Amino acid sequence: MTSMVSGEQARRLEKAYGGKVMISEPMKKHTSFQIGGPADALVEPHDVEALRRVLQWAWSESLPVFVLGNGTNLLVADEGIRGIVVRVGPGLDGITFEGECVRAGTGVSLPALARECADHGLSGFEWAVGIPGSLGGALTMNAGAYSHTVGDVTREVRMVGLDGALSVKTGEEMQFAQRSSRLSHGDSIAYQALLALRPADPGSVRARMAEYMKDRKVKQPLHLPSAGCVFQNPSGRGAGRYIDAAGLKGLRVGGAEVSQVHANFIVNAGGATARDVLILMGVIRRTVYE
Ligand SMILES: Cc1cc2nc3c(=O)[nH]c(=O)nc-3n(C[C@H](O)[C@H](O)[C@H](O)COP(=O)(O)OP(=O)(O)OC[C@H]3O[C@@H](n4cnc5c(N)ncnc54)[C@H](O)[C@@H]3O)c2cc1C
Repeated sequence: MTSMVSGEQARRLEKAYGGKVMISEPMKKHTSFQIGGPADALVEPHDVEALRRVLQWAWSESLPVFVLGNGTNLLVADEGIRGIVVRVGPGLDGITFEGECVRAGTGVSLPALARECADHGLSGFEWAVGIPGSLGGALTMNAGAYSHTVGDVTREVRMVGLDGALSVKTGEEMQFAQRSSRLSHGDSIAYQALLALRPADPGSVRARMAEYMKDRKVKQPLHLPSAGCVFQNPSGRGAGRYIDAAGLKGLRVGGAEVSQVHANFIVNAGGATARDVLILMGVIRRTVYE
């Protein structure tokens, strides 16, 4: 597929934001599924001002922007992504503590943030220790586990609009819902959040995190590339139970397979394409529905 970003534009972008531009970057290197064709251009802004410069530049060139966190909740097309992929990660991952609150850059990974909170004797985020995403991805998806969600503890989110304008939203204004928030619209990039936690004994917080990790190791196929659970749970029963009851564990299309360990996970059992995953999802949907 033809790139929307010319070599000359990439050079201008490097100058405009003061960082490297990766051209035709394989997205399979940036997703936990290890699937995805090339991004026309991928950048990793080192601070908020660099992030704004990237967005303002892309806006002025009328180029589409896609935000990437840790790539653990994404199925990127085999054709890749046209325009500019902006990775929010290292450089935007600072953590500071303000009393019983933690202020964190959205590029921080959830396990790292959960451990820091435990070390500071704060409870309320230990459920996130086994989720491999970034805080930015979690705020977008309203990630959650063990009856907790990131929306429960979010007091404030700082973000940049695609035109580079800065704004601050309260937890309420974030419109957290079942695996979505106002960031799901894709028109803003979160760069920092303030989470309100509560004091606790670090030892007991760490013990709970160890329990959660133990539980995940038993119930999830952590040895194979995946993007976590595929289907949302219908009320009252896990989607995995329906898929299991339909006898679909182990079903394979190309390199994509319904996990033998957890039926709501599709794993990349070797060389899977996005097309394989989409076909397999269609088969699962049809079979469970029938
Ligand atoms: C083994 C495994 C277990 C998992 N377990 C859980 C679980 O228990 N609970 C759960 O909820 N999820 C789980 N997930 C899914 C995933 O880790 C979470 O949804 C995570 O929060 C996604 O974060 P990410 O940084 O990887 O986001 P990405 O996959 O990079 O992006 C997801 C979406 O967020 C957007 N986005 C990312 N960063 C930003 C930002 N800074 N500003 C604006 N938009 C942004 C992207 O554009 C995209 O639309 C699991 C995944 C795996 C692989």
